[in-house]
Amino acid sequence: MISVEQALTEILSRLPDRQTMVCPLADSLGCVLAQDIQSDIDSPPYDKSLVDGYAVVASDIQAEVELSVLEEIMAGQVPTQRVRSGTAIQIMTGAPLPEGADAVVMIEDTTCQNHTVVIHKASLKPETNVMRKSTSLSQGDTILKAGTPIRPIEMGILAEVGCTDVPVYRQPELAVISTGDELVPATTRPSPGQIRNSNGPLLTALGTTFGAATRSLGIGLDDFDSLSELVTEGLKSDVLVLSGGVSAGVKDLVPGVLAHHNVEQIFHKVRLKPGKPLWFGLVKQGAQTTLVFGLPGNPVSSLVCFLLFVAPVLQQLLGVKSDVLPSCKAKLTAAFQQRGDRPTYFPASLTMRDGTSEVTPLNWKGSADQSTLSQANGLAFFPAGEQLYAEGSEVTVFKFPS
Ligand code: AMP
Ligand code: MG
Repeated sequence: MISVEQALTEILSRLPDRQTMVCPLADSLGCVLAQDIQSDIDSPPYDKSLVDGYAVVASDIQAEVELSVLEEIMAGQVPTQRVRSGTAIQIMTGAPLPEGADAVVMIEDTTCQNHTVVIHKASLKPETNVMRKSTSLSQGDTILKAGTPIRPIEMGILAEVGCTDVPVYRQPELAVISTGDELVPATTRPSPGQIRNSNGPLLTALGTTFGAATRSLGIGLDDFDSLSELVTEGLKSDVLVLSGGVSAGVKDLVPGVLAHHNVEQIFHKVRLKPGKPLWFGLVKQGAQTTLVFGLPGNPVSSLVCFLLFVAPVLQQLLGVKSDVLPSCKAKLTAAFQQRGDRPTYFPASLTMRDGTSEVTPLNWKGSADQSTLSQANGLAFFPAGEQLYAEGSEVTVFKFPS
């Protein structure tokens, strides 16, 4: 059985080349830039006022002084006159600074009377409340680097520089099939022997969380032909995830069906708890490579395997470089007995107390226990080997994405 690290290396070494595409700005949230972006404008595009007030010649202000007001400039308008000594132009925040003026007095420091203004200041430095053209950026400047994830902030910047067709890495497509004769859709009340398909919505939502365009292909029965039909559809995506049917049961047909579709098995089973039965393979059909994951059916096992193995694939295809599950050290709030020869990723609650991270492994009743899982915001990690971790011991915790 291979280790978690070996499994991840096997998977990531088989990723197809990232593809790029042009995405409308409005749809680009969560994508990653595939090219540097240059500004097509100077920002600000002209010398501008940072406040509402009066554009003046700074050297006029050496004591309280009265100036004649030539005109009023609103944002969006341009001045038609030049400020000379003894005059001022009323100006709004963001409006272009008139020629001749080298500073702006805030409206709060003035009193306006008809066509004159009294400036209540003993002095004024040139450049006060003025932002010069190109202070923020110049035309041709690289404003965002390739590899930058697009957040709302980047969308604003892209809009400012007129980048409405955004070069990004193509979003990977993920297909999800939940297998099992016992499964019914969540909309159905289960009959005896049946359970609702919770993995489908869980895995589809995880796919969306990690940037994939997800396709839910529904429930595949434990029947070669019906499963085969769904797999044909699933193999049209970049990544196909099946849950269930990869353990040692008589009805665990997934590996056989995948072999029938020429999906090459790379590994089956990983030294890990929960998640040991994980299956991974791939198939190339023309230009399309599909990576295929058979996740164990238990919801907690499915979750852990998705986070450890599928999420990094989606993020790499999307061009994201940061860790999928950032880790930290935290002190155990209770003793923990680690058993067996597999490393354990245990659902846990991570909290901060007095500036220290604390972790509480949840009272988890086996890998099908989803209600306990809702309290978890991370996975506490315990390396393989029998060991009693005393309360207060420091352990590694992998944090769930929020
Ligand atoms: P399997 O890996 O197919 O042997 O399934 C292991 C366990 O996980 C069984 O108890 C299944 O009923 C449960 N299980 C499998 N698929 C799902 C699913 N989609 N939603 C919820 N539980 C599931
Ligand atoms: Mg099954």
